[in-house]
Amino acid sequence: MPSKPHFTPTRLGELATDLVDWYREHQRDLPWRRTRDPYAIWVSEVMLQQTRVEAVVGRYQQFMRRFPDIGSLAVADESEVLAQWAGLGYYRRARQLHAAARRVVEQEGGRLPRVAAALRLLPGFGAYTAGAVASIAFDQPVPAVDGNVERVISRLLALDENPKKGAAAVTVREVAQAMVLKAPPHELNQALMELGATVCTPRSPQCERCPWTVRCAGRRSGAPDRFPRVAPRKAAVDVTCYAAVARDGDRLLWRRRPPGGHNAGLWELPTTEWHGGAADPDMATQQLAALALEMGGQWKVGEPVATVRHGITHHRVSLVGYAVTASPAAYAGPDLIWATAEEARELGLTAAAQKLSRKLPPLL
Ligand code: SF4
Repeated sequence: MPSKPHFTPTRLGELATDLVDWYREHQRDLPWRRTRDPYAIWVSEVMLQQTRVEAVVGRYQQFMRRFPDIGSLAVADESEVLAQWAGLGYYRRARQLHAAARRVVEQEGGRLPRVAAALRLLPGFGAYTAGAVASIAFDQPVPAVDGNVERVISRLLALDENPKKGAAAVTVREVAQAMVLKAPPHELNQALMELGATVCTPRSPQCERCPWTVRCAGRRSGAPDRFPRVAPRKAAVDVTCYAAVARDGDRLLWRRRPPGGHNAGLWELPTTEWHGGAADPDMATQQLAALALEMGGQWKVGEPVATVRHGITHHRVSLVGYAVTASPAAYAGPDLIWATAEEARELGLTAAAQKLSRKLPPLL
């Protein structure tokens, strides 16, 4: 069983007050904190999931210029939404944001529901996003527990179990819920996240700068970074795939990924399926030839021209670009396009295609 919280409701109230006082003085000035517009807060929360604040700021401002309100997002083409999302990754979030905007416009008169339980009925709203939007935009007293909050509360309590599971997860949520009843919800939840992002960071908590330094059980243990307890990571598996680099002058052949699968609707240099292990020239020739047939054509496979690596869940993927000689007339259709790399980026590329396109040797 995980340790029980050592804090009475009164103590949790004091902790909440100290935290919000600290937040008012030390919060970072971020564009989505200058507004109480529920739509803007929602967009920022979706962008911030699994993406660093520094990477989000510019994209958020650009996205809000293009889609300043929920109505403009709802009527946009999905391809444009994905293009505006380029660089943030996890495109499923963009699709769900778009689908939810449409539903809110069609069924809710264009207004986001104020209550977390109603928000959770919309595409893309899990417990965290619903809690964050309900509390930050509407001041509803509901918790918003993300990885930062799990870490901060695990350390505060010196919780000895994985806070993502079982009784420890319940404990973290109960403490977050108790605190959000004791301070303005829009500040309390952001303060918890801010503490985790700037002071109680994963590897080096700066306890001397923390408003909870005196009361924190993790700090008193002498090794706060031992918390939270997490399950060991799965060992990474090496896999390889091959992309066809077909040129026509400064244009390249791009293919839109099919609906339903990974990165659906995004564009890439035509790419084979993964195989286990390292790159193999025979396998590359064979698989790229099969890919040409699948696309209704043929091409001559040449030499490898660039390799990039990226991670997907617990896979380490090597993507090797091979020059191929293809006739532009043989490759045409709604999901194929000949375009320069700059033009293709405007359409929305997969992260791997972005990387590979930047690494291709210049034309001679
Ligand atoms: S005192 Fe240290 S370990 Fe405890 S919450 Fe603050 S930064 Fe984290």
